[in-house]
Amino acid sequence: MNVTTLPKPPRVGLVSLGCPKNLVDSERIMTKLRADGYDMSPDYAGADVVLVNTCGFLDSAKEESLEAIGEAIAENGRVVVTGCMGKEADVIRERFPDVLAITGAHEYEQVVGAVHDAAPMPANAFLNLVPEGGLKLTPRHYSYLKISEGCNHRCAFCIIPHLRGDLVSRRPDAVLREAEKLVAAGTKELLVISQDTSAYGVDIRHQPRPWKGEEVRAHMTDLSRELGKLGAWVRLHYVYPYPHVNDVIPLMTEGLVLPYLDIPFQHASPEVLRRMRRPANDAKVLQRIRSWREQVPDLSIRSSFVVGFPGETEQDFAYLLNWLEEAQLDRVGAFKFEPVEGAPATSMNDQVPADLKQERYEAVMALSARISAEKLAAKVGTDVDVLIDRVDDDGGATGRSKADAPEIDGEVHLRDAGGLNPGDIVSVRVEEADEHDLYGVPLGIQAA
Ligand code: SF4
Repeated sequence: MNVTTLPKPPRVGLVSLGCPKNLVDSERIMTKLRADGYDMSPDYAGADVVLVNTCGFLDSAKEESLEAIGEAIAENGRVVVTGCMGKEADVIRERFPDVLAITGAHEYEQVVGAVHDAAPMPANAFLNLVPEGGLKLTPRHYSYLKISEGCNHRCAFCIIPHLRGDLVSRRPDAVLREAEKLVAAGTKELLVISQDTSAYGVDIRHQPRPWKGEEVRAHMTDLSRELGKLGAWVRLHYVYPYPHVNDVIPLMTEGLVLPYLDIPFQHASPEVLRRMRRPANDAKVLQRIRSWREQVPDLSIRSSFVVGFPGETEQDFAYLLNWLEEAQLDRVGAFKFEPVEGAPATSMNDQVPADLKQERYEAVMALSARISAEKLAAKVGTDVDVLIDRVDDDGGATGRSKADAPEIDGEVHLRDAGGLNPGDIVSVRVEEADEHDLYGVPLGIQAA
């Protein structure tokens, strides 16, 4: 009879000091660690790592916390510190330089992450109920990575801030840890999402956090750079054209971030943008796009536009069409303005009649299809990297180039693609193009 011997899960020792609130924090941390498969150790000797949850209420409590850390280091040596004294990391580090990690009170995600780093769970399907990268609704080879929730803007057609509140950014180390796990579990493409990616970290004053021996600011540029080092494609969505977006462009030339920006412009006419109360409503956007393309010639820009916003005149609409012609965006989605309960635009004067909205919608779609077809035709005969999404029974496969996000952009259809699997990245010679998609033949799989 074959008997599977399960590896022993790591054991965590806990020293919990201070008030009942701290005790509740310790319980929450332990509950999470138990759910992750860890065992508890009643003594120092049996623990793979010791967690000291400190109190910093009074000087005497601080001293007691420091003594507890000292005892755990002396008895076990592998110590993670959390709790109120996390605010005084310098004091702790000065006295105990060997402490593995220090996190603050209520930083559950960080302290649990520090325990995982200090005593990793052995990979085993019987022990790990949830795969390393978490449960996913997307295919294994691409993952959405949410970096913040909510939004500080108040666009007149949108009720998201009302539903989800103001911007709340995740800590950069927590985002990076999640991304690292996703890549380890097979993700080849990280799709960075939020309501306003350019504003990431504004609410937490771009506070830096330790990551792999260095400090990473909660800032779009720093986060993108670190994500780029994980070895997966990094695609940025919902980027507003604030001036600091210029700093992300060099990351594209370095190959750390895909040459792709999803910028929801929504309109081009200054008057409509003013009425929409859009952020980053800057007359120099076209100039900025030109400069980005000079630096990154294969940059793809995707955007969405609302037509028929209340008060949109013939002149506003003509301005939009001229702007689109000038901007030569690679991918464009258009929407007819729809009144939403609770959005200020719903009760604005000068609502545009439905048939006019439809006419304008069709005009934008026709123009953007023509631009897209011209741009894709220019790729015929060139070689592009393609991430395979699915393979067919008849020897073909379908994937996406660096210019294509899943679901919203085009695809690359391959012939003679036997032997390819979802998640492979393959070099493809483009043979044909239409308004939205490319068609080609694989040249060779790239090394992972
Ligand atoms: S449209 Fe976007 S930027 Fe504007 S309020 Fe809504 S979520 Fe914020």
